[in-house]
Amino acid sequence: MLTQLTGVGPSIAKRLSESGYNSIEAIAVTTADELAAAVDVGKSTAQKIIESAREVLKIGFETADNLYEKRKNIGRITTGSKNLDSLIGGGVETQAITEVFGPFRSGKTQLAHQLSVFVQLPAEKGGLNGKALYIDCEGTFRPERIIQMASAVDLDPKKALKNIWCARAYNSDHQMLLCQQASELIKKENLKLIVIDSITSHFRAEYIGREMLARRQQKLNKHLHMLERIADIENVAVLITNQVMAKPDTFFGDPTEPVGGHVLAHVPQTRLYLRRSKGNRRICRLVDSPWMPEGEAVFIITAEGIRDP
Ligand code: ATP
Ligand code: MG
Repeated sequence: MLTQLTGVGPSIAKRLSESGYNSIEAIAVTTADELAAAVDVGKSTAQKIIESAREVLKIGFETADNLYEKRKNIGRITTGSKNLDSLIGGGVETQAITEVFGPFRSGKTQLAHQLSVFVQLPAEKGGLNGKALYIDCEGTFRPERIIQMASAVDLDPKKALKNIWCARAYNSDHQMLLCQQASELIKKENLKLIVIDSITSHFRAEYIGREMLARRQQKLNKHLHMLERIADIENVAVLITNQVMAKPDTFFGDPTEPVGGHVLAHVPQTRLYLRRSKGNRRICRLVDSPWMPEGEAVFIITAEGIRDP
């Protein structure tokens, strides 16, 4: 109940819900400026509301033993390939953002589909017994593919589809709003995975040219931090995909530089670079991980999904 927050009466509660702040979690992770603008209150009132939300959720300093307890709850979702799983330490982790970047057809969207299916498996089969939220920014989500991948592991395809909440994001603001609104759904529906495919495509299309670069990076940064907090507070895995630049001269020098440059490079905890190899083979390089060494793994994309070669 939003009205349990200091400074929130029925009318502000209504305005909060109407602006997409449906849960205490969503309020806790926003900024005073944003909240003030969204519900038309002063900045200091907004700040009080946010602080109260953080208090309710007990966000703040904690001792390391609590942190250790919390980290014990980290779940891992199998990718379908043992090679790939061991490269990243057992699967895609909750309480973290995993970024998958690479050129077109390298398998980013396939991996996103695969994890949306495997998150539904019970723990002994490498899943988290949970549901997925799929934010599709490029219009490439395919339920038909989910049916194929689910049938391959004896999941009822109808149920598998029902366990994936999808939204098509039409621009970067919409994309960010969808993430904000995700908080409420996460608890209600036992979501364990949030996919954003791809995180940068709208930003790239909307913020063109050098003079827009700073604003784009600021906004992306905010978006990523929001996702980071959701991953952390709700104990979900966040998978974001990102295309590498086709034209090396647009913003950055390195042709394998992902869109978003340094902002994206610093927020995601685990970064995977995919590239094509012979036939259906793909090579995945672990570029950045807080606790695993750099390395590479080979997997294949088949009709059944991601597998070992
Ligand atoms: P983009 O940057 O264009 O979004 P991507 O990295 O998301 O590219 P994917 O869509 O994940 O690329 O990969 C596409 C590739 O996956 C196809 O080229 C094909 O090799 C493989 N693929 C897709 N569907 C199937 C299928 N049903 N059976 C076998 N392979 C498939
Ligand atoms: Mg794709």
